[in-house]
Amino acid sequence: MHQHRFLLPGILGGIVSGILLGGFLPEAGQGVSFVGDLFIRVLTMLVVPLIIAAMITGISRLGDVRRLGPLGTRTLLYYLSTTAIAVTIGIVLVLIIEPGTSGGILQPGTTEPGNGLTEQHHAAGTIEEKIRSEDRTITDLLKEVISGMVPTNLFRAMANNDILPVIAFSLLLGGVLTTLGTQGKPVLDFFSGLNEALMKIIHLVMLTSPVGIGALVAGRLGEAGGFSGFLPELLNLAGYAATVIAGLMLHSLVVLPLLLKLFGRISPLRFAAGTTPALLTAFSTASSSASLPVTIECAEENNGVSPKTAGFVLPMGATINMDGTALYEAVAVIFIAQMNGIALGGAELGIVFLTATLAAIGAAGIPEAGLVTMVLVLKAVNLPLEGISLILAIDWFLDRCRTTVNVWGDSVGARIIDKLTPDSN
Ligand code: ASP
Repeated sequence: MHQHRFLLPGILGGIVSGILLGGFLPEAGQGVSFVGDLFIRVLTMLVVPLIIAAMITGISRLGDVRRLGPLGTRTLLYYLSTTAIAVTIGIVLVLIIEPGTSGGILQPGTTEPGNGLTEQHHAAGTIEEKIRSEDRTITDLLKEVISGMVPTNLFRAMANNDILPVIAFSLLLGGVLTTLGTQGKPVLDFFSGLNEALMKIIHLVMLTSPVGIGALVAGRLGEAGGFSGFLPELLNLAGYAATVIAGLMLHSLVVLPLLLKLFGRISPLRFAAGTTPALLTAFSTASSSASLPVTIECAEENNGVSPKTAGFVLPMGATINMDGTALYEAVAVIFIAQMNGIALGGAELGIVFLTATLAAIGAAGIPEAGLVTMVLVLKAVNLPLEGISLILAIDWFLDRCRTTVNVWGDSVGARIIDKLTPDSN
């Protein structure tokens, strides 16, 4: 906690300066984005070794590998139920607010349904490419997630920063090492030492976070043309953005704190204060994976989550548990239907519920991954893919908001699962 007491005002100051710089002087903002990229690069560099070390160390501290079963079941139960709650909130809000029907806020002549993906948003070129070439179904995506857990070449998976196969291998190796007795001990000690060392490095990296986070925010806002470029686009889609943000707030400020209070036995405010560096890192990087080192550090150092739970729950959560993404996908798809004058029936809403949940599970913890897997939800209810062009302009911003909620959901989960797991206190 000691370090973050000093850090928190620094990070907040960094974000505010970043917003002001990128907002008023977009070019200067873009000029400093190099510094922000360095910050992301260092975090990303730490992710794979940290997952391996933290998971193996966590499992070895469970005492008995058979405890992994109940821990895994609780974790999956938490992920699925909170994601389902998030999607439900999204669906209910977008049906009540109806941001996409007439009387909504879309102004004529600004963004209209049916526009091609290419004309409007040049900056989003690579994303458009991905969306256009996305020809998987939701079943394909899930098959990919499952078969992706078994890499043919572990080192290639590590080199590509593919998190799921690394998680699967670490679980296997950690589990087996704990059964080897004295032969396994030196290897476990090695990973435990590596884990300590990596946590120290993260401590050091966090000292640079006020500058790194500030530069990232300045750079991205600058790229969007500063306030004068970004605010009109946000206003165009004010109803849609407000629905997504209201849903995210309801989930993160009401539902998750309630669960935290009931099952995590900690004051949500205190917990939030300890998690803030991770949340701001998520906001500035738009990546649950890149934020993972900070998320683990906050959980263990500030919020009393035992390393055995944090090492297991948080890496999995960063790739699988995405409350914010699930909620956003449901809102976005129903918004696109409303914009096209299509009313979705009960069965179709059920399909949105299921596919948005699965699409969030399948989305990687990287920027705008949710936008790409949303294509599958649109297809599942036969909505035009062009609908995505409606929401593309501000997706980079909503991505940051939903990633923050994704990381908050993971952190709350780690605490709750830790408290529900016997012998962890
Ligand atoms: N960027 C999000 C994350 O890393 C995923 C998404 O695009 O929704 O959590």
